[in-house]
Amino acid sequence: MAAPGTPAPPTPIAPGDGLLGGRGGPPDSMPGAKQLPVLIRRKRDGGRLSEEDIKGFISAVVEGSAQGAQIGAMLMAIRLQGMDLEETSALTQAMARSGEQLQWPEAWHQQLVDKHSTGGVGDKVSLILAPALAACGCKVPMISGRGLGHTGGTLDKLESIPGFNVIQSPQQMQVLLEQVGCCIVGQSKELVPADGILYAVRDVTATVDSLPLITASILSKKAVEGLSALVIDVKFGGAAVFPDQEKARELARALVGVGADLGLRVAAALTAMDNPLGRNVGHTLEVEEALLCLDGTGPPDLRDLVTRLGGVLLWLSGHAGSSAQGTARIATALDDGSARRRFEQMLEAQGVDSNLARSLCSGTPAQRRQLLPHAREQEELHAPADGTVESVQALPLALVLHELGAGRSRAGEPIRLGVGAELLVDVGQSLSRGTPWLRVHLDGPALSDSQRRALQAALVLSDRAPFTAPSPFAELILPPTAAQP
Ligand code: URA
Repeated sequence: MAAPGTPAPPTPIAPGDGLLGGRGGPPDSMPGAKQLPVLIRRKRDGGRLSEEDIKGFISAVVEGSAQGAQIGAMLMAIRLQGMDLEETSALTQAMARSGEQLQWPEAWHQQLVDKHSTGGVGDKVSLILAPALAACGCKVPMISGRGLGHTGGTLDKLESIPGFNVIQSPQQMQVLLEQVGCCIVGQSKELVPADGILYAVRDVTATVDSLPLITASILSKKAVEGLSALVIDVKFGGAAVFPDQEKARELARALVGVGADLGLRVAAALTAMDNPLGRNVGHTLEVEEALLCLDGTGPPDLRDLVTRLGGVLLWLSGHAGSSAQGTARIATALDDGSARRRFEQMLEAQGVDSNLARSLCSGTPAQRRQLLPHAREQEELHAPADGTVESVQALPLALVLHELGAGRSRAGEPIRLGVGAELLVDVGQSLSRGTPWLRVHLDGPALSDSQRRALQAALVLSDRAPFTAPSPFAELILPPTAAQP
């Protein structure tokens, strides 16, 4: 399928890029240069921001009159003082209105669904679920994010496929939904520009783990998509943004509640993020594993999460009579190859050469490895003792990979797409001393002693009998009007 031929491609937006000036000057709500410090001080000192204050801040961010330091200071004030639900809702709406609202044909309204995650390690679910949902008759206009803190980003993963273009205009997205049924794109000057700027600043200012900022970031992108149903995978555990399940539940309730406020039918699944999801972590390696899942194979925890999140969406949007029926339909789309065909079509329609898309989707794992960019070196670590694998702690693993170049320390900096790690063991299996358990892919130099120590400490062994690892899916919080699944 040819890439949709439509108007000139939109450009991504960076902190300080002007926008509103080009649309006929700043709006009335934009604060003068002197007012921003007043708003920052008010939030810093624990006060509330009014809807007008919030609109003014977002206008100044997008128009470019807010300095980077002021944006960072406001984000830190929000991170430290929090926001109530009304402020969070106002922030979400102001961010959503910073760009265009997507408009779809009337006939699509019940079909439009999407999924988003609060961020995990090895979480490649979106790459699989978008095409699987399309294969089940849905339209999925997915606006995703880049890596945030130690967590990986769907857009960065897709960009490890040569030619894949995450920047698509609203018109191009409509063509993609007509032809393929799904697309995975980034925000741009047209789409939620405020989130693009705030997201990049949060990533480098230690302001990722803020309940209102996460809520507004996720829901502003979803509010412009005109959805019938949305499921959000809210992670908890050692490598989640909020390790504590109670705090993650609070975030899940905020997402469902603010979503309802905006007229969005949102369900939130609480899922465990202590161990990496699947066996591969790192951009290219995660694409390889997503393809395995699209082959109908791959790690059971990954397939379990993909099918269950998809099941909830099919049920909420009326495509299945229950969430269990929806789960079974997604499993069929993985097993019969229809989800993989949609993935191939999406790659091609978003700029990947058709021969490469075909070879990637129909090739063996070894052939796929030749087609994607990989790191120069591999280093294996060996089990220090006999035991049962109790856990492979995802956070220290992600932090070492971040240091090796898989994540960013400055907004917009390039990342090393081939850097990553393959787990050679499963949680619950028994392991003998000296057996390789982790293969690290790196561009050199070799791992330092402290990196090797941190990775070895991530392998937690016990003396209990081997066991089957439990599903990461723990709880489901439904929108106010939904019946039980
Ligand atoms: N995904 C987003 O889009 N934003 C966040 O803040 C976290 C995850």
